[in-house]
Amino acid sequence: MDSWKRFMELIELKDICKTYRLGDIDVPVLKGVSLQIARGEMIALMGASGSGKSTLMNILGCLDRPTSGEYWLDGCDVSALPADERAQLRNQKFGFVFQNFNLLPRTSAMDNVAMPLSYTAGHLSERQARRQAREVLERLGLGDRLHHHPSQLSGGQQQRVAIARALVNHPPLIFADEPTGNLDSRTSTEVLRLFQQLNAQGGITIIIITHDATVARSARRTICIHDGLIEDGAACAPSDTGPEAATPPAAPPSPAELRGIR
Ligand code: ADP
Ligand code: MG
Repeated sequence: MDSWKRFMELIELKDICKTYRLGDIDVPVLKGVSLQIARGEMIALMGASGSGKSTLMNILGCLDRPTSGEYWLDGCDVSALPADERAQLRNQKFGFVFQNFNLLPRTSAMDNVAMPLSYTAGHLSERQARRQAREVLERLGLGDRLHHHPSQLSGGQQQRVAIARALVNHPPLIFADEPTGNLDSRTSTEVLRLFQQLNAQGGITIIIITHDATVARSARRTICIHDGLIEDGAACAPSDTGPEAATPPAAPPSPAELRGIR
């Protein structure tokens, strides 16, 4: 591999398999996944329900380990790291966004966003952590919702709080697992535009996991998974006429538009 390619490469998976064990039965879910992701990409990981998307995201996000295969992250083999080192890596490198937002109830937006900072080495004071959380929330247009609890926010606002929480540690990579699954179509579009903006302007690598071709179209590249295997791109592009016809990402939204997200 030439040095430029090595510099650009963020992730390489080589023949990753994951088999769950249920009682006496082996359940093979990932059956030899190989792929590469470069810094700054915005990718949709698409496949039907049950195809193995979340299992793959859990491995990519170092939430789980593969049964076999190699996972190279930033030039290091992380396939077999123990749990504590994986936790440290997650904290430094990844932000996670989930379908159901996963916010702490009865906790303000600001404290939800500040929460990951309490796990970070170098310990910020509580005041510094809250200031950092406030800054990110303001950037995402939620400056007037800092003290609201999740139940006092709309779905789109809750997901923006979750995105702020994913951003607060300045990770180079964000995983979003069905991030628009609980949102109406207009709010979904706005959340996807926010991801596009973070990718285009912030240079953050974004991987959106989805079963929905409309969502996948907001990414620049689609990786399709079918029954635990990566499919040939042309066979599963999120458009009727192949990957070339996929709609390019729309222009990133302005801050004023972002504030308009419901
Ligand atoms: P997707 O996210 O694409 O819907 P998942 O990765 O969640 O798919 O699941 C893929 C398959 O793996 C499913 O058949 C699911 O039942 C199985 N599976 C997922 N997690 C576990 C587990 N912890 N133990 C056993 N089987 C699992
Ligand atoms: Mg899933």
